[in-house]
Amino acid sequence: MDGIILHWTAGADGVTPHEADSYNFLIGRDGTITPGKHAPEAQIPPLRKGSYAAHTLNANGNRIGVALDAMGDANERPFRAGRFPITELQLDVLVTFVADLCLKYRIPVTRRTVLSHAEVEPTLGIKQNGKWDISWLPGMDAPGDPVAVGDQLRARILAAMGQPAIGAAAFTPVLRRGSKGEAVRHLQELLTGQGHVLGKVDGDFGERTDAAVRILQKLEQLKPDGIVGKQTWAALNKGQ
Ligand SMILES: [Zn+2]
Repeated sequence: MDGIILHWTAGADGVTPHEADSYNFLIGRDGTITPGKHAPEAQIPPLRKGSYAAHTLNANGNRIGVALDAMGDANERPFRAGRFPITELQLDVLVTFVADLCLKYRIPVTRRTVLSHAEVEPTLGIKQNGKWDISWLPGMDAPGDPVAVGDQLRARILAAMGQPAIGAAAFTPVLRRGSKGEAVRHLQELLTGQGHVLGKVDGDFGERTDAAVRILQKLEQLKPDGIVGKQTWAALNKGQ
């Protein structure tokens, strides 16, 4: 699993059949978690129409959709939270639930891997037709910058996992040669950011990524075994 996308349903209280079909999990304003019609595993490609949660345009593969069931009749501009605003309790449940999903599915918490629907277009470059969930949280006067709001959510999720928030990065799955996916892509971006030459950032932990990791480990006086664990992640996140 590559990531989790956070939504709101723009619905009233109560999970409708359409909502259950659209998200893997829904969280009510009273904090109740309702599994959708499709388990997270349904997001693993190949995706067949009707057999997965179509929560995000062109970004459903290997991504779990979690929605706050809220914000029915809300309006972006001028802003009006409407009769079903997100509640603090709902947000607390989202944070701990997503933290659990990240641990269960070994999903790192980064801007590319745990993000709101509103961040998909600016961060992943996949067009989303003006989606603004989740750019507003309880206590805000108006919607904010989606990535800034996402950073707040990620910091809370990391705290729930007992992980410090280090810039936009953190959470540290063990990666090694043969690993694939967004966590590897994140690793490669950090390596590139530290001046290591990899070729391309492709999410595939191959020979060149392995060599760059071993060089970094030698420089940091770690065992140069090519296995990216806690200490290597810490070295990668230095200065972030
Ligand atoms: Zn959405």
